[in-house]
Amino acid sequence: MEKNNPFEITQKQLYMCAKVLNLEDDVVRMLENPMQQVQVSVPVKMDNGTMKVFQGFRIIYNNVLGPAKGGIRFHPDETIDTVRALAAWMTWKSALLDLPLGGGKGGIICNTKELSQGELERLSRSYINCIWKFIGPDVDVPAPDVYTTPQMMAWMMDEYSRLSGKNQFGVITGKPVQIGGSVGRGDATALGGMYTIREAAKELCMDLSQAKIAIQGFGNAGSFAARLSEQLFCAKVVAVSDSKGGIYNPDGLNIPEVLKHKAKTGSVINAPCTQTITNDEVLELPVDIIIAAALQNVITKENAGNIKATILAELANGPTTPEADEILYANGIHVIPDFLCNAGGVTVSYFEMVQNMYMFYWTAEEVNERLERKMIKAYHEVFDASRKYNVTMRMGAYSVAVSRVAEAMKIRGWV
Ligand code: GLU
Repeated sequence: MEKNNPFEITQKQLYMCAKVLNLEDDVVRMLENPMQQVQVSVPVKMDNGTMKVFQGFRIIYNNVLGPAKGGIRFHPDETIDTVRALAAWMTWKSALLDLPLGGGKGGIICNTKELSQGELERLSRSYINCIWKFIGPDVDVPAPDVYTTPQMMAWMMDEYSRLSGKNQFGVITGKPVQIGGSVGRGDATALGGMYTIREAAKELCMDLSQAKIAIQGFGNAGSFAARLSEQLFCAKVVAVSDSKGGIYNPDGLNIPEVLKHKAKTGSVINAPCTQTITNDEVLELPVDIIIAAALQNVITKENAGNIKATILAELANGPTTPEADEILYANGIHVIPDFLCNAGGVTVSYFEMVQNMYMFYWTAEEVNERLERKMIKAYHEVFDASRKYNVTMRMGAYSVAVSRVAEAMKIRGWV
């Protein structure tokens, strides 16, 4: 097994939680592996006339609380184990936010930067052709994730509707608003994360208007987080990074300028008035808050000891390894764990499903107000559980989520 295999990490976290909650063995046996795993070969006609076959996955980790829910990633380093881990985290995320949903995830091994728009459309449609029997509005509802977009969700929804012979807006979320998407879904992950940071700052008596923030990852979640840090908190974002590296200005970055620079050049690197630093250096800066918004396994036992921030907000899925977790806990760093911090995305996805079912759409204010209420409640449940059991915030989150899933399995007679 590879080093820091994300699925092994989720299993390890589950076993730790089982000890905290004193879970029965059969409950653990039911939760330590996915309920259903589908692997498909996805054929695509390329622009040059040749055929290429991509490997795709769709996994239902657990659906005791409702239809499985979770994104689809298009990534060159995707493996079945990353999809398994992400599907497990989706299960805990839905349960933690008290959504009537289970957890699932999908992925295709591909590099979107090497594919044309036409190839991406054919890949999205072909993937749905391969998995459509295994998904559905009350079975498993995909959504966007790393390198997948609302446009791809539109193609996928359209393909599913074509195959099943009727409009099925509710089969997928994160769609454009013109075809059944929810307002507020685009920045929901970042906004939800901001609400958890605000609650954490209250607990720690931190004045956010004086805070310095560094953000690793400048994709959808990271770039919205940068804008919102300034708009909501009047905080200073001093560093951001993307896959090519990071930029730093101790007096604060000009975020609109950085966004323009990224749109023009494809990277944040060399944006005006900034100093270039590495992705690792972003994590080790003298700041108050780090927002980890890139990929999994970036905070490890090698660099966790160098983190100087008071709050680590995990907007990405799985950025911290279990060894790093122990170091952060020992150093008193307040971690807002991934499936709490980034749960705003799936929460507004759930609102999108509700609106699709009712065929009645909400205003931005209605969406944001409901999102805020859910995030605040979840943050405090996690905080209280971590105090009650005297464990990390991550184990606090696990104990709330896993006990809800375990209880539902008992009531339904699964264990
Ligand atoms: N991909 C997002 C996540 O990891 C959103 C999932 C969803 O909206 O279903 O939470």
